[in-house]
Amino acid sequence: MTESELRLEQLAASIGRARQRAGCAVLPAEGQREDIPVMGGEARHRDCLVSMLASGSKGNAAFIRCGHTKILIDAGISCRRIEKGLKAYGCSLSELDAVFITHEHADHVNGLATLLKKTDIPVYTTRETWSCLGRKAGEYAGRFVRLPRRVGLKEIQIVPFLISHDAARPVGYTIYHGDSKITLATDLGYISHDVELAAAYSDILILEANHDEEMLKNGPYPYALQNRILSRWGHLSNRDAAEFLARIPLKGLMKVLLAHRSEKNNTPALSLHTVRTVLSRGGRVVGQDILLRLACQNGHVRFQEGGNA
Ligand SMILES: [Zn+2]
Ligand SMILES: [Zn+2]
Repeated sequence: MTESELRLEQLAASIGRARQRAGCAVLPAEGQREDIPVMGGEARHRDCLVSMLASGSKGNAAFIRCGHTKILIDAGISCRRIEKGLKAYGCSLSELDAVFITHEHADHVNGLATLLKKTDIPVYTTRETWSCLGRKAGEYAGRFVRLPRRVGLKEIQIVPFLISHDAARPVGYTIYHGDSKITLATDLGYISHDVELAAAYSDILILEANHDEEMLKNGPYPYALQNRILSRWGHLSNRDAAEFLARIPLKGLMKVLLAHRSEKNNTPALSLHTVRTVLSRGGRVVGQDILLRLACQNGHVRFQEGGNA
């Protein structure tokens, strides 16, 4: 057990003891952590919906619906799972307007070829990313649209921004719909100035919180892979995400989906604990300034509390 995990265990135990003293709770079974009440990869703002159909190193896909415009960002899970995910929102593959790809890593494009086969939607990405896809999507070259600075698609505007990651030319995306702003920034080694500008004043932010640095350093990954993840071309740690959230400019309550969490080098509890701790040290109130949700790898979980999350 790492030091962070140990601290978390101690914290959970002390909360449990306090509750027991107050006679108001049953302790979780031995060795079991309490449920994290904020699991779920969905957020809404006005008539915009963001749902992480899947998030993590085994596959990523975000469904975004603003008014009548429906897009996917990344198609890293099977087309069947995408279809199932959309169905939960009463949407079918044929209703999608486009798919936007962040970069060519398999966990972001594994389902792309089948998605293109089953639909006639365009695929927007950088020229460098498209060239790297090779056989994965080559036969659909006619559907490729090289990303301009801004894409106008029905009721939304989509603006890509560069991110630092070990891929050909990776990007994140900001979506504007009326005065609503949604930003997706995952698979990034650090928070660059471009990312800061893109994410500022978002209503919904999908932000990577990939690993706990101590868990990663003490975990099963080979040294070279650890270094790759920790580098400026790797992935964002819980702490880096938290420190960014503590200083990001807000226009009101920002709904944040913590995404692309490592299954080996992180836990939902640790991720949430780190972000909450850093935010409160920075004077931000969780639930008042920033609403936190954890996106997860296997399927989206819909919120039960009135849906306005
Ligand atoms: Zn990824
Ligand atoms: Zn990647």
